[in-house]
Amino acid sequence: MTFHDMSLVERLLIARRGTSYFAQRLSEVTDSELDGATLLAGWTGRHLVAHVGYNAAALCRLMDWASSGEETPMYESPQQRGREIDEGSTLSAAAIRNLFDHTVARLDEKWRTASESAWAAEVRTAQGRTVPASETIWMRTREVWIHAVDLGNGGRFADFPEVVNEGLLTDIVGMWRKKGEGSGLVLAVDGREPIAVTDEATTTTVSGGLEAVTRWAAGRGSIGSTVDGAIDEPPRWL
Ligand code: ZN
Repeated sequence: MTFHDMSLVERLLIARRGTSYFAQRLSEVTDSELDGATLLAGWTGRHLVAHVGYNAAALCRLMDWASSGEETPMYESPQQRGREIDEGSTLSAAAIRNLFDHTVARLDEKWRTASESAWAAEVRTAQGRTVPASETIWMRTREVWIHAVDLGNGGRFADFPEVVNEGLLTDIVGMWRKKGEGSGLVLAVDGREPIAVTDEATTTTVSGGLEAVTRWAAGRGSIGSTVDGAIDEPPRWL
């Protein structure tokens, strides 16, 4: 069963588990460690946590849009999104932690009170995709689980529910195909049918457990996977 085939209740549970997982990692980072680097180039812990908070706020706007029918986009523009993160990163550590807690609670409230018609209402993501508002659950799920790893203090793809790693890998391969990336690349997950990203002859095979191959494909390093071939860095997917 894929994430999208699960019931709303089950999907919300996985998103909330991801939030708890992120919150746990965050609670183990000291204020001064938040000034340090993360797995994301150019982003400190402050940028990362501010971003995760503002992402929840942006998803609240999509839920508002779904409930009211009045268009409230995630972000005004990519520039506004970037500026918000830069400014957020200058807040005190305590304020950044509050931002995270507060926006998580707000999004959870929107989810708890959404009507059936709101869940089904169409909204547009920052990437320009038109999706039902229920897609916010998957969007948030991806964010909290992956960014928990990006904090760089022990978060592991191996801790993700299998259905999350499967959904991530499907999304990533789909994005590569849409962008015409990943020519010659084959992802060979242990115990599964290998995935050829394109029809071209294989030049590189990345193999390992689902969590390791997903980690590599998501651009978070090759821990646990074997990369055999010319492509050492995965194509960008976002
Ligand atoms: Zn993000």
